[in-house]
Formats: sequence, C-alpha cells, structure tokens
Amino acid sequence: MPTVAQRCLRPANLPGSGSPDDIMKLKIAVQKSGRLYEDSVKLLKDTGIDLKNGVNKLKTESDNFPMEIYFLRDDDIPQYVEDAVADVGIVGENVVYEKNKKVEVVEQLGFGKCRLSVAVGRNEKYNHAGDLSNRRIATTYPFLVQQFLDKHQVKAEIHEISGSVEIAPGIGLADAIVDLVSSGSTLFMNGLKEVDTVLQSQAVLIKNKNLGDAQQQLLEKFLFRVRAVKKARNNKYILLNAPNDQLEQIIRLLPGMKSPTVLPLAEPGWSSVHSVLSENDFWDIIEKLKAAGAQGILVVPIEKMVV
Ligand code: ATP
Ligand code: MG
Repeated sequence: MPTVAQRCLRPANLPGSGSPDDIMKLKIAVQKSGRLYEDSVKLLKDTGIDLKNGVNKLKTESDNFPMEIYFLRDDDIPQYVEDAVADVGIVGENVVYEKNKKVEVVEQLGFGKCRLSVAVGRNEKYNHAGDLSNRRIATTYPFLVQQFLDKHQVKAEIHEISGSVEIAPGIGLADAIVDLVSSGSTLFMNGLKEVDTVLQSQAVLIKNKNLGDAQQQLLEKFLFRVRAVKKARNNKYILLNAPNDQLEQIIRLLPGMKSPTVLPLAEPGWSSVHSVLSENDFWDIIEKLKAAGAQGILVVPIEKMVV
C-alpha cells in the first residue's frame, strides 16, 4: 500500500501513464530541511541546474535541465529510490547503509561529513568493542550497531530510540550510545566521550538499480557536471610573480593541470606563473613558494573544472 507521499510523488512515467516529456526527466530526491538541504541545493545550483519558483514545496523542477526535484525526509529517500519513485537521491551514507535498501551508491559528494561513533560516560573505561559486552546501547541506528557488534562477536542489548540519544546514559536508559558526531561538542556537553567509530559518513548520490536508458543518460550528464564541481571545489587557481632566476625551482613546486603557465612580466627579469593547486597541500606549497622567492601570490576559486 503506497504512503500518502508516495501517491503524491508517484511519477507520471510509471507504466500506463504520463507524457513523453515526463519520461525524459531525471527525478532526484533531496532532504526537505536539515543538515543536507543547503549543500544539496547548492550542488544543483553549482552544476548549473536552476530550480523553478523556490524550493518550499514537496516537488519542483528545473528550468534548464530535465530534472524534477522531490523534497523529502532523509530517512525515506533510500526507499523512494528503491521503489523508483525517484531515480536518484542525495542522502548520508549512514542512512543508506542503515536502511539497507536495494540502491546503488554512485558518487561521494564531499559534504555532510560525520561519523557514527560509540560514546560512553566520560569516566567509563573502553579499550575495544568487547567492553560493550552485555551493556545497553541506545541508538537510532540499530542495523549498523548490530553489524558492528557481530563483526566484533560481541553480544549487547540495543535500545532503538528516535532522537536525543546523547541523553540516554544520563537518565539511566543505556550504558553507551552510538550516534552521529561531527565536532563532538554535543557528546562533551552531555558528559560523554567518543571511543570508537562504527562508520565514516558523507553525503552520497544513490540511484535506482534498474534505471531506464533515458534516465541513465541523464544521470551521466548530471554526474559529469557533479564531478566537475567537486574537482573545482578541491582545487584553487594560483597566480604569482617570480624572479626569472628562481623560476625553475618555483615551477617544480607547482603541479598544474599539465604544467604551469609562464608569462613574461613588463618588468624585465620577472615572470607571472599560473597554476592549479589542490586544497589539501595548499598551505604547505604556498609556504614553499614564498620561501623560493614568489611574490604577489593570488589564489582564486575555480567554478568548474573539466579534465
Ligand atoms: P529529517 O527530518 O530529514 O529526517 P534528520 O533530523 O534525520 O532530518 P539531520 O540532522 O538534518 O537529519 O541530518 C541529516 C544528515 O546529515 C545525517 O543523516 C548525516 O548524514 C549528516 N550529518 C552531518 N553531520 C552531522 C551531525 N553532526 N549530526 C547529525 N547528522 C550529521
Ligand atoms: Mg532523518
């Protein structure tokens, strides 16, 4: 029996209904509100996909890309994608693996990073998963916790609760919790410490396993753009001035997409060097460039990067 939301969202391209226009749209499910909402909408925007008349609805579409966007609770997204109500979805890996639906993870998206962690009272001892033996664990992720316990051959009692997991030890409901953590400040405020990691998570693009050819082609078009945006986000464009006698050393520090561009400056004996730097080794390389005599270093964001 379909839920109300499923009936509302049931696409016109299921057998026996709909126009050819609808068939050619990629239906994507994103979180309606919450931690993934802004980054998901920003990703669509950065891939050049404009959303029609605002996003405060259950469903909208794009003006300039054959895409329909459904705004849903993140917990429901894997099911909708499995059922082909949506072709693809953006959701945390934690939800994908907890729900264990028949969907395929297509791409990690680099935002919504967090970890599903074990935490115990600040003064409790925890050296390994075995210390959870016969303890009570409160969590909203019973499936992943059971998998973790099985992997370590530990028997413990899982208490599934739907929210505010971090208060469970304080009120005597549990001895440990397994919950999502990013900075750890919520745990700290509740007198808990993070002691083990069940899963590292980030937002991913998932797809239905039986996409039709048209949908698959649209997905590939979308993915091509997503990858260009991801690459651009991980890189910076750098421009600097270098004395010619230091050029060789400076160029050796810069990878560039092929090799750095070198142009003569109006001032004799100097050149302008342009290149692309990865966000990861950015500060390290900047320091070395300065030490090698580079001056007037400019660093600018890249909007899209196709290699
Ligand atoms: P919904 O109403 O859609 O069910 P929610 O309350 O379940 O939302 P949010 O708190 O908005 O979920 O988190 C959505 C996702 O954001 C999480 O499933 C996780 O993948 C990711 N996330 C990143 N950092 C954190 C964090 N510190 N705490 C919780 N979730 C995080
Ligand atoms: Mg949720």
